[in-house]
Amino acid sequence: MEQRRSFLKKSGLVMLGLAASTCISPVGPALGKTKKYAMIVDLDRCTGCQSCVIACKAQNKTTKGFFNTKIEIREEGKFPNSTLKFTPRQCNQCEDPPCVDACGNDATFKLANGIVVTDWGRCVGDGACVNSCPYGARFLDPESDNKADKCDFCVSRLEKGLEPECVESCPSAARIFGDLTSPKDEFASYLKSKNLQPPLMDVDTGAKVFYRDSRKV
Ligand code: SF4
Ligand code: SF4
Repeated sequence: MEQRRSFLKKSGLVMLGLAASTCISPVGPALGKTKKYAMIVDLDRCTGCQSCVIACKAQNKTTKGFFNTKIEIREEGKFPNSTLKFTPRQCNQCEDPPCVDACGNDATFKLANGIVVTDWGRCVGDGACVNSCPYGARFLDPESDNKADKCDFCVSRLEKGLEPECVESCPSAARIFGDLTSPKDEFASYLKSKNLQPPLMDVDTGAKVFYRDSRKV
């Protein structure tokens, strides 16, 4: 299992033009050097169906009990007049990622397109990045020598011109993905929306996952 997943991690980096022993290198042409990827989650659309969670698991083959994306479920109001609120969570591909600063082995770093990745060839599994992430977006994989894992916006799919698996699998189109340097279509309209919020109101790491929630305006 460990060998298979290590290979997957390394093959992702190779596809991006990154050798396991290099730090930040030019990204593959299909990804473009100047792109800055971001995701908007429309909380008014999310039904909490978990399709994205299952699709992500199938795509990334995360170890049993560990997830690159999860749905946070919160009850709002008082029973019997309460409602459930669903908030998808994952790595926010921070512009100023504390996890990168915390890693003493240069194993986690930011690509030119803003996506934060982990080189399993360098990861020693000490968990410094896991402890530093204010969003709890990382975990150590016990089935892969405790290498650090997390969402990477499905870089291997982006390289093929596809959207992240969670975006494609969402039946409610609650996840909207795009390039901040050249926003198009629905992503561009959402970016103009006044009520976009960061994942945590009191933490500013330059998160590139934004939330739209009409109920908070
Ligand atoms: Fe790193 Fe956490 Fe930011 Fe992701 S959300 S880039 S794991 S600090
Ligand atoms: Fe929400 Fe879409 Fe994920 Fe279902 S697939 S939980 S609607 S984001």
